[in-house]
Amino acid sequence: MDVVKMSNRSSKYECLLFDMDDTLYPRSCGINLACRKKIEEFMLKYLHIDENEVPQMCLDLYMEYGTTMAGLKALGYEFDNDEFHAYVHATLPYEALKPDPILRNLLLSMPQRKIIFTNADKAHAAQVLQRLDLEDCFEGVICFETLNNNNNPSLESKCKGNGNGTILCKPSIEATQAAIKIADTHPNKTIFFDDSVRNIESGKAAGLHTVIFGTSELIPEADHALGSIHNIKEALPELWEGEEVDDDDQPEQVMEAPVVETMVLA
Ligand SMILES: [Mg+2]
Repeated sequence: MDVVKMSNRSSKYECLLFDMDDTLYPRSCGINLACRKKIEEFMLKYLHIDENEVPQMCLDLYMEYGTTMAGLKALGYEFDNDEFHAYVHATLPYEALKPDPILRNLLLSMPQRKIIFTNADKAHAAQVLQRLDLEDCFEGVICFETLNNNNNPSLESKCKGNGNGTILCKPSIEATQAAIKIADTHPNKTIFFDDSVRNIESGKAAGLHTVIFGTSELIPEADHALGSIHNIKEALPELWEGEEVDDDDQPEQVMEAPVVETMVLA
């Protein structure tokens, strides 16, 4: 897919890679917890894993492989990726996600290219972005299907796990490098935002500038720490450097910023 690049007067950063879940909205929304419960249910119901082992195994695989799904595949469990995603996301409390006009205006006012980089599948990503009313704030979405699609020849060299049960996902360095390649950006000109320490570590290892969300505690691999994405302008004013938009009359100008329809990058 051709990636539309917007003109940009700020030369320091050209592209912003955003994690989605627990980054664009707070963890307190409950999506994460509900998702984990559904994964545990799937492990019990369809993979027939011992009930007493499921919770710890779910967590251990998440920690070791980036997602529990990736861990299950690595252990040799066989199931359809789409069916797994459909089951896990079918009853999530999406109604907890409300339109976020503050974040919307912030995103639209940033002159850089903005792309979602998530381990989630495209249906979940679309649902979340629609609920937050942020669908048109991003140039594209790099998601599960982008990194794990067998018929994506441009990624063949990067997606070494395709077809043999291995899932490519954050926090693997290969996944991050693949995202950089798909976004067609230079890591040194790109900022990566994520709420996961491991993902941030991987982003830094790939040469990205990094911002960890959901905490005010800086970690060694993060260039900035930000409790809430709503404070991004105070924490990173350099993102708006070179912009002619005045802070005072920003909202009106913001809404007129050129945007393109969000689509899954492949
Ligand atoms: Mg996250």
